[in-house]
Amino acid sequence: MEVHRSLDAARAACASRRASGTLGLVPTMGALHEGHLTLVRRAREENDAVAVTVFVNPLQFGPHEDYERYPRDEAGDAALLEGAGADLVLFLPADEMYPPGHVTRLDQGALCTELEGAARPGHFAGVLTVVCKLFNICTPTRAYFGHKDFQQTVVVRRMVEDLDMPVEVVVCPTRRDPDGLAMSSRNAYLSPAERAEGLALVTALGEAQRLFAAGERSRAALEAAMQRILLDRLRRPADYAAVVSPDDFSRPELAHPGDVAVVAAPVGPTRLLDNHALGAKLGPFSPGP
Ligand code: AMP
Repeated sequence: MEVHRSLDAARAACASRRASGTLGLVPTMGALHEGHLTLVRRAREENDAVAVTVFVNPLQFGPHEDYERYPRDEAGDAALLEGAGADLVLFLPADEMYPPGHVTRLDQGALCTELEGAARPGHFAGVLTVVCKLFNICTPTRAYFGHKDFQQTVVVRRMVEDLDMPVEVVVCPTRRDPDGLAMSSRNAYLSPAERAEGLALVTALGEAQRLFAAGERSRAALEAAMQRILLDRLRRPADYAAVVSPDDFSRPELAHPGDVAVVAAPVGPTRLLDNHALGAKLGPFSPGP
């Protein structure tokens, strides 16, 4: 496994792999867990070479968010990536990614201001800009993203299509802990009690799925059921609990299979988000210790 720490070295290493075969790219912000490694293993199966970028992207954090304290563990990440079969690990320096004078931003208007975009103004412009840069630097054949960040997968696909980017976007299922909590680097911020509270998100999604499977199609009823659970368990309103179309986040009066239940809520010192495509299997999960 090669490790590179400059844009020039990253570009050259990717170009050399790409010259002799397909390249799968897994963009991450590090503090890696099984969710990330699932993406790496899938990329390993489908490509001749796999590159993983580790870059905590300042552009996608708001001024009062956790950019400074976001967990960082380069040695741990490199060891996990070696085990998962990555060929290239690219730790990209922020001052090279965004040298003085950089101003260009990608944005998609309403798609970037719904849901997470409403809670985090500017977040998706930062995401799209960095993903576009990573595609240009690494020129991957395929790029791997997790359904965990559902809205991100939609805006990235939209960008690739709108801008004719020559890359295939592959979306992988959300990995969960045995009790159902969606794996996230930010789970590291949670105390055991807060982590238990965080299970409210998957419980709410499970209830929406249960009602949907039992024939409930009213979006308002599905949303109300999720909101009730979140309010009850977290003792404050969620940021959102909604059922949306997977194409444009519009909210249909009647839910259809494949519409996505999305939830986000503050839990302890952080925010958690999760989602579930209605009609798909969710659980069962084993209760925590
Ligand atoms: P991050 O490091 O949080 O930016 O995540 C990097 C990639 O890993 C993104 O495409 C995420 O959607 C994906 N990812 C994060 N958590 C999970 C998870 N629990 N299951 C599957 N993919 C995930």
